[in-house]
Amino acid sequence: MGIELDIRPIKAWLPNINNPLVISGPCSLETEEQTLETARLLAKDPRVFIFRGGVWKPRTRPGSFEGVGSIGLKWLQMVKQETGLPVGTEVANAQHTEEALKAGLDVIWIGARSTASPFVVQEIADVVKGTDAVVMVKNPVNPDVQLWIGALERLNQAGIKNLVGIHRGFTPFRETKYRNHPNWSTFIELRRLLPNLPVICDPSHIAGKREYLFEISQKAFDMGMDGLMIESHRDPSCALSDKDQQVTPAELAKILDKLVIRNATI
Ligand code: PEP
Ligand code: MN
Repeated sequence: MGIELDIRPIKAWLPNINNPLVISGPCSLETEEQTLETARLLAKDPRVFIFRGGVWKPRTRPGSFEGVGSIGLKWLQMVKQETGLPVGTEVANAQHTEEALKAGLDVIWIGARSTASPFVVQEIADVVKGTDAVVMVKNPVNPDVQLWIGALERLNQAGIKNLVGIHRGFTPFRETKYRNHPNWSTFIELRRLLPNLPVICDPSHIAGKREYLFEISQKAFDMGMDGLMIESHRDPSCALSDKDQQVTPAELAKILDKLVIRNATI
């Protein structure tokens, strides 16, 4: 049996979209130049609809690059102004959310570590409440479909209707080919319980390595997912986070060219 959520389809907030929802941009925004150059290259591809860039980075261990912080919001505004692409970033608390909405970001997403915390989801919901922002919710790091649904319900109960699920895989229990385990049966369960929810795949965080992006993306469409979030960087070899899984905008185009898209229902 399905669960009743009052959710608007992607077309309601992105009326020009006729294809699967493709979101791309760097794992982390690093400099104004890197942000704008990557965005300019992506904007040439009409299949890319939303530009993403992390400004507050939830690193597993301290000591690595934790993002440029609020200054990155200004760079996202510049991307939006110059390319016309809607822009989005990850938020992990009320303050991030307030700043992101104040900066006019179109999309915010809740990362896998934060989806696992009902308190964090609630404080984000309380800030987004009453706005038109799109909130994307990654699966929690652990394979718990109820926790994922609970986060979506919590946001929906605050009146937030522009919701999207993102499957980014689950922490594996042993070393596997991929960085995070894509548990496709969890997606099937989510679709069964929330049939109206648009769900996209994040092959970058599933793969951990760029060479697997195509096979995971194809599988996502074969399963009936509605789009992709793929990390891209003007020069992945210099990226300050997730360098092995990022692609250049030209490599992204090649992946999109090869995909056979059967089922996207946006
Ligand atoms: C990201 O999108 O850059 C990110 C940190 O993702 P996740 O929450 O899936 O680990
Ligand atoms: Mn990343």
